[in-house]
Amino acid sequence: MNFIPIASPRIQEEEAKAAYEVVKSGWISMGKKVQEFEKSLCEYTGAKYGIAMNNGTSTLHSILMALNIGPGDEVIIPSLTYISSANVVLYQGATPIFCDNDPLTYNVTTDHIRKKITPKTKAFMTVDLKGLPVDYDSFNELSEETGIPHISDSAESLGSIYKEKKVGTQAFAHSFSFFANKNITTGEGGMVVTNNKELNDKLVIIRNQGQEGRYNHTLLGNNFRMTDILAAIGIEQIKKIDSLLNKKVSIAENYSKAFNEIDGIEPPFVPNYVNRPSWYMYSIRVNPLIQKDLIDYMTRCKIDTRLSFPPIHIQPFYKNKFNFKVNSYSKAYDSFKSFIDIPIWADMGNKNQSLIIDKIKNFMNNKVL
Ligand SMILES: *Cc1c(COP(=O)(O)O)cnc(C)c1O
Repeated sequence: MNFIPIASPRIQEEEAKAAYEVVKSGWISMGKKVQEFEKSLCEYTGAKYGIAMNNGTSTLHSILMALNIGPGDEVIIPSLTYISSANVVLYQGATPIFCDNDPLTYNVTTDHIRKKITPKTKAFMTVDLKGLPVDYDSFNELSEETGIPHISDSAESLGSIYKEKKVGTQAFAHSFSFFANKNITTGEGGMVVTNNKELNDKLVIIRNQGQEGRYNHTLLGNNFRMTDILAAIGIEQIKKIDSLLNKKVSIAENYSKAFNEIDGIEPPFVPNYVNRPSWYMYSIRVNPLIQKDLIDYMTRCKIDTRLSFPPIHIQPFYKNKFNFKVNSYSKAYDSFKSFIDIPIWADMGNKNQSLIIDKIKNFMNNKVL
């Protein structure tokens, strides 16, 4: 029996050919293909501007740079997120202010953010965890009311649909990642999309060493550029995204139907305002007491499962730096302790899926607490 991975990208002949053509053309650094990739992602999301970069950490970082966020400033972010969301705040010398999350969606709500706003707050960041969009309208209201810009770490939600619209136009800026296990991939890569022209113009400069015209550096920038080789792969990936996501939707439906019937396994919750989660990850929720045993059992069955990332406040670096306790953000910690990511990828097939469901069912029927 083969090992079933947690995710597997659909990289085929088209991507190989596209990359080959770019290499053969002799222009392999940032050029026309990057522009074309930006245009195709704008068309897909409905956003006006797209700025491609080397990864989804640079994209987040560049937005904070463009907003001139620095020492003395605060940025509010969820504790339950990937490390980049917090690191970029520290790169700028600003202070990350963490907040808890909703135990049902794992995402943050305006209530969580609102409690943390001070006169020093320069931005708040939300994360569409596991591909489930936050309730964007409520954050827009908060932004309008307070004048604080909303940055969306949408690394996991490219292709998710919120109130009939793709994620990418709701917040002040959205950051996407094209790492290998993301919804589409270029190996490494990222893009900011925004409807704000001023932000776009600044990011174009920041991405390219703060350069406006050759060797004329008007801003403090960095080298956040994407290569044409990767952009060519991205262009092919964008053509496939809806077929990938629709397949994941049906896999998720099968899973949820099966898990609703199994005592002790709770399928993910999808609120009404979400028409389609991207299903970046499919996470079941279990009693924390059996989490490890179930994961060990699945590993013995050659099925990959993941705990996903621990909340930032228990990461050793942050825990020491800010003196956090495990229960400083207790909902974030509880979420982490109860969920298990199980394999979901477009081409996994019915047979693999049935096997996964059977194994989980088997474990739950025989478990000893
Ligand atoms: C993947 C991811 C990132 C970082 O993207 P990279 O391209 O790996 O730098 C940031 N935030 C979240 C929530 C992610 O899942």
